[in-house]
Amino acid sequence: MSETIFTKIINKEIPADILYEDEQSMAFRDIAAQAPVHFLVIPKKPIATINDIQPEDKELIGHLYWVAAQLAKEQGVADQGYRAVMNCNEYGGQSVYHIHLHVLAGKPLGWPPYTERLKV
Ligand code: AMP
Repeated sequence: MSETIFTKIINKEIPADILYEDEQSMAFRDIAAQAPVHFLVIPKKPIATINDIQPEDKELIGHLYWVAAQLAKEQGVADQGYRAVMNCNEYGGQSVYHIHLHVLAGKPLGWPPYTERLKV
């Protein structure tokens, strides 16, 4: 898979507002926040889309949700609620081909969030 901007963030080649990091994952604020709280949780392993998740990645994907929940608690939005979502390919609204969990919170969230952008 070709390198994305998220690989550069993982390698600290470009800056990001990093909220969490461990051996397997990283979380940082989205550069174009769509809600008062909007951060991304990504695996360090580059996986292009949800379709590319392998059986051996199943624990890693669960870990991303665990990180999302810990950070939601830390940010004080866990009880009020939030959306944790991964977009897949064009119609899913994916623009960076390194899987990432969007965590959006801090206001009531419309659904579906990306209708405007897709223009279909
Ligand atoms: P998606 O459209 O689901 O692939 O989401 C990609 C997200 O990455 C978008 O919400 C972008 O705003 C965000 N993004 C792109 N570049 C950066 C960056 N350098 N730092 C933080 N977030 C970024």
